[in-house]
Amino acid sequence: AGTRTPLMAGNWKMNLDHHQATHTVQKLAWTLKDAKHDYAAVEVAVLPPFTDLRSVQTLVDADKLEIVYGAQDVSAHESGAYTGEISPLFLAKLGVTYVAVGHSERRQLHHEDDALVNAKVRSALSAGLVPILCVGEPLEVRKAGEHVPHTLAQLDGALEGLSAAQVAGLVVAYEPVWAIGTGETATPEDAQELCEAIRVRIAELYDQLTADAVRVLYGGSVKSSNVASIMAKPDVDGALVGGASLDPEEFAKIARYQ
Ligand code: PEP
Repeated sequence: AGTRTPLMAGNWKMNLDHHQATHTVQKLAWTLKDAKHDYAAVEVAVLPPFTDLRSVQTLVDADKLEIVYGAQDVSAHESGAYTGEISPLFLAKLGVTYVAVGHSERRQLHHEDDALVNAKVRSALSAGLVPILCVGEPLEVRKAGEHVPHTLAQLDGALEGLSAAQVAGLVVAYEPVWAIGTGETATPEDAQELCEAIRVRIAELYDQLTADAVRVLYGGSVKSSNVASIMAKPDVDGALVGGASLDPEEFAKIARYQ
C-alpha cells in the first residue's frame, strides 16, 4: 500500500439497532485496545445505519475512541423536499468521516445509476465527507470477461467533473457483486487486477500523484482467514467488510491482518 494508510471499514448494512451498535462499537474498541491496535497504522471505521450514528458519536466522544464512523448512503441534495433522504450536512454535524456511495445493493435494489452516484459523491465532498465509492461487476459481466471495462466505466461516471484534489482524497472500493455476501471471495490476484486497474485509470484521468494518493479497498466476503493474502497485494489499501464486521472480535482480527 506504499505510504497510504490502510483502511478497514465495516459496512453493517441494515443490521444492529442503536443499543446493539453501542455494544458492538464498545466491544470492538476493547478488543482492539487489548491487542494494542495502532490506529495510525491501520484506520478502523464502522458504517452503521443512520439511526445509530448519534449513539456511535456519543460513545466515540465520551470514551475518546479512535474508531471513526461513516454512513451507508447520502442524499445528492443539501435540503428540501426530499422525503426520507439524509443530507450530507446532517452527517457532517454528527462527526461522520466516511460515506459509502454507489454500493451494489443501492445500484441494484434502488436503481442508482452512474449519474446519481456522481451527484452523491459531489454532495458528500461538498460537506467535507470522504466518499467510499463502490464499483464492481456482476457475475455475468465477469463470465463474459468484461469486468475491467465495466468497473472502469462506473469509475469514470462517478468521477465526472471532479478535480484532482477532490479525487486524491477519495476512497474507492472494488466490490465484485458476485463476492458480496456470498461467501465467495475474489482471489488476491482478482482483487489486485482491479485495484491496480482503478489506480491506472485515475493516473490517466488525472496524474500519478493523485492515483498514488487514492486508497483502493477490496470488498466481498472478507474474513480474518483471507484478509492477509488480499492485503499483501500492492494496490489493495484495505477492505470494505460486510457480514464479518457485525462480529466485533472477527472485525478486530480483520483490522489486525498483519
Ligand atoms: C459489503 O457489503 O460491502 C460487503 C463486502 O459485504 P460482505 O463482506 O458480507 O460480502
